[in-house]
Amino acid sequence: MINPKTRSLPSELTDRLRQTLQKVFGYDQFREYQLEIMQHVLSGKDALVIMPTGGGKSMCYQLPALVSKGLTLVISPLIALMSDQVANLRANNVPASFINSTLTNQEKKKVFLDLEKGITKLLYISPEKAVIQRFIQYIRNKKIDLIAIDEAHCVSIWGNDFRPVYAQLTELTSTLSKTPMMALTATADRATQLDICEKLRLRNPRIFLSSFERKNIQIQVRPAQGRMQQIQSFLREHKGQAGIIYCLSRKSTEEVAEKLRGFGYRAAHYHAEISSEDRKRIQEAFQKDELQIVCATIAFGMGIDKSNVRWIIHYNLPKNIESYYQEIGRAGRDGAMAQAILFYNFHDINVFRRFIDDSEASIEFRNVQHQKLDRIWEFTQASSCRTNLILNYFGEYRNTDCMHCDNCIRPPKGFDGTFYTQQALAVCQQGDQKLNLGLIADILRASGRKEIYDRGLQRLNNYGAGRDISRLDWLHYLTQMVNQGVMMIDYTDHSHLKFTSLSLDILEGRKKVKLTRPVNFKAPIVQDKSPGKNESFNENLFKLLKDWRRDQAAKEKMPAYIILNDRVLKEIAKERPATLLDLINISGIGEYKLEKYGREIIKIIQEYIQKQDILKNVKGQSKLQTLKLFQEGYDPDKIASERQLKTATVYDHLIELYSKGENIDLHPLISKRILHEVTEGWRLAKNINNAATVAEFILTPIPLNKIKVALAIINKENRGKG
Ligand code: ADP
Repeated sequence: MINPKTRSLPSELTDRLRQTLQKVFGYDQFREYQLEIMQHVLSGKDALVIMPTGGGKSMCYQLPALVSKGLTLVISPLIALMSDQVANLRANNVPASFINSTLTNQEKKKVFLDLEKGITKLLYISPEKAVIQRFIQYIRNKKIDLIAIDEAHCVSIWGNDFRPVYAQLTELTSTLSKTPMMALTATADRATQLDICEKLRLRNPRIFLSSFERKNIQIQVRPAQGRMQQIQSFLREHKGQAGIIYCLSRKSTEEVAEKLRGFGYRAAHYHAEISSEDRKRIQEAFQKDELQIVCATIAFGMGIDKSNVRWIIHYNLPKNIESYYQEIGRAGRDGAMAQAILFYNFHDINVFRRFIDDSEASIEFRNVQHQKLDRIWEFTQASSCRTNLILNYFGEYRNTDCMHCDNCIRPPKGFDGTFYTQQALAVCQQGDQKLNLGLIADILRASGRKEIYDRGLQRLNNYGAGRDISRLDWLHYLTQMVNQGVMMIDYTDHSHLKFTSLSLDILEGRKKVKLTRPVNFKAPIVQDKSPGKNESFNENLFKLLKDWRRDQAAKEKMPAYIILNDRVLKEIAKERPATLLDLINISGIGEYKLEKYGREIIKIIQEYIQKQDILKNVKGQSKLQTLKLFQEGYDPDKIASERQLKTATVYDHLIELYSKGENIDLHPLISKRILHEVTEGWRLAKNINNAATVAEFILTPIPLNKIKVALAIINKENRGKG
């Protein structure tokens, strides 16, 4: 089924692709596989493209659409993503439209009018609309160059997000049987990949599989006990950084957000039941960095293209590895280091199992979901490289350590845990195998919990036998015992721990058990070698550019990142292009945006550089600190005490800054009377600028600092007149 060979196209077409990439999108190079994929579909063949989120999938059909004569049809199930992509294309002057349930009749008319005129190059459409017969009849007479099917895993029950309507897409594609098809997805294990090819009836497709590794995401997995404290200490170490906390239930998104607000964080909750206005407001605030944290169900994130999400926390276990990887993939899209922390516990597994069992899906589907749940659980319990486990899951086999997951950074230490295991097994046995995991830990610790006394469990022989170990550590060990099959959780009987075929051998000393010590959950430190953080891009200029972008976005009524994303602004701040020609060399600026925004950007940079020069000439950081405090409204005495300087020094700083052109107003430091008297004195002293000399010509005593200020003002105003 898979055809590994692609006939190469005439080099002219390759050149055109390269030029269009540069001209329209402002990018110099193709990413891995992009060119091959484009060449492949432009030669009329089908392809399945698997790339991680942010890898550049969309480009694989957008660019071919621009070098082709007709229309490219893009099937996309996510409305937010669809409108985002269309807005992005239009921002680069590419004629693109979408059809989905959000369109008004008027808007729909306009879309069809543009189609009739042959203006549109890319038409995005939801699968539901694409399978409507009237649409199929309409489109069959048009010249369609390519059908791109995004989120193609939705066609497979092996996939993460099965949508039956995807199977009906063959009605459309069989009508356009000569048109090449490109299926795209960010998440497909091997079984799903093959299933996509089959269900979408791709013809002899080539599968393009990019590496799934996200090297700048540091992966950590922790037991869920004491989650809130762990999150708080994490947030203290990652001040001001934006992140998402994924929760399983709506209620917990609300609770976690409320707690975080209580601790002083700018946090909001987000789930499918809040109003669409609120959802929009939250998305925008997060996008603009006005909101630091969003506590959300999986409803949040689809179509979020915020490049500086610095961390993702899974407050609960994700339902499978696909979801997990997709969700953490929303962090660090700008290439700078990001963190992903997953909290696991048995309770979540239990909840998921019930969801699956209670669902009305087919038995086959439910079995698949159970298996996927097993895999994510294995992932949480892995003691070797977690990235490898994920990559292997997606069919990218390798076994070199990634060095950016907790197990690689701090390999867990193993020890002979037979004795601890025997104590736990003894309690389990003495309690008639009617105790759950938490209760066993409490009995071992003699916690005095009410349930223990209610049930008379304090009389068990091993009550208090494990007092020397903390509850958290017991939970950690018990979890490992279950994972090693030493005991099992009986989900059909209140999650009580039961013996397995291994239990007696261990209890009676015939077998040994190896356990690992819990890690101290201080974040493992990895040096951030990524571009961005350590490089000296100028934070202040970046801020100025962001302010300009915010105003521009408001004017154009579109999200800020569509104007230019953070990565592009950071590069501008770092490179400080001096001319439009320099600006076009910045990756991400195509000709249209250059024409539209170029001059304004250059102006901002030039003004900024001039200001920097002024400040640089006024030597030293000390004056800048004085300036900052002055601009924040402190008077010189306060600044002096704050900075432990002499007041005269502070006056000298301000006067020097003022005289060299810094935009500050010194008038509030002196009264009109003083200014008047000093002006008189200055004249009498024959325009000498020495404060002590001028003081000689003034009748009333005025502090020297004030005279200096007045002289600075007089001089500047005179220069202005001159
Ligand atoms: P995906 O659809 O795989 O999630 P996108 O196509 O949205 O990813 O691409 C992610 C980001 O990478 C976008 O900002 C896109 O413009 C950018 N991008 C795509 N191709 C290139 C390239 N060849 N060079 C630089 N940036 C690119």
